[in-house]
Amino acid sequence: MPARRLLILGGTAEASALAGALIDRHGEAIDLVSSFAGRVERLKPPPGRIRIGGFGGSEGLAAYLRAERIDLLVDATHPFAAQMSRNAREGAALAGVPRLQFWRRPWPRHPLDRWIEVDGIEAAAQALIHLGKRVWLTVGASELAPFAAIPDRWYLVRLIEAKTPMPLPDYTVIEARGPFQIENERTLIRHHRIDTMVSKASGGGATYAKIEAAREADLPVVMIRRPLPEPGDRAEEVSAVVDWVSARL
Ligand code: NAP
Repeated sequence: MPARRLLILGGTAEASALAGALIDRHGEAIDLVSSFAGRVERLKPPPGRIRIGGFGGSEGLAAYLRAERIDLLVDATHPFAAQMSRNAREGAALAGVPRLQFWRRPWPRHPLDRWIEVDGIEAAAQALIHLGKRVWLTVGASELAPFAAIPDRWYLVRLIEAKTPMPLPDYTVIEARGPFQIENERTLIRHHRIDTMVSKASGGGATYAKIEAAREADLPVVMIRRPLPEPGDRAEEVSAVVDWVSARL
């Protein structure tokens, strides 16, 4: 029997773990393609084939699914990649391909967490007006500009790949790829005398240590709420995604 074709919309640690787990389980019975938006130049390629770049909206994705004779689609993009997830639902429906969304578990809010929850990057920047002066900004490289408008702030920015100069008046940038350990996060907070953190409510284990370290240091955290998941099949564990795929091979 020819191998069944699976497209994983990736760019997350869980998408890579999923690719590895599926190839371990099914070997050559599965032909796996992982897709990346192409924002990071130094990719860490997962097992299987990869493709890089957008599809051209939901219709472009549907055309790709048909042309490549994809049997199954797993949307394992970042929880904030709302556009890609919408395209995945619509494109899969247009092409008649079964789709599952991997939905990373949100972080639970601890009673000692000092979160200020906001909707969107602009609101996060505005929230800083009432908060500290030395801000650890843990958002994407394309989301920095609104913070430049807040006067008299210094920012610590951590990115997988930094493109300098950044659109911020006063900052220090660190290049690093998660997962991060709590001792590392404690040291950054102490060393840079951080008094406020900004984070997307990304969830998952790889970047949770910064949230724990902020709690220990009693820091306010401007927490950007997540977009809602798409309607349809959803799984919150990589093992559950493997089961969903395996049941359809
Ligand atoms: P997006 O806004 O949902 O996607 C915008 C467009 O990028 C899509 O319409 C699609 O273009 C293309 N695209 C996105 N993911 C793709 C994939 N896996 N394969 C092929 N094309 C893809 O998502 P985003 O721009 O990637 O990111 C939005 C948010 O998610 C940001 O807040 C970002 O910081 C966060 N994010 C974080 C991580 C992380 O690991 N920390 C990773 C990714 C994203 P077409 O319409 O042309 O198909």
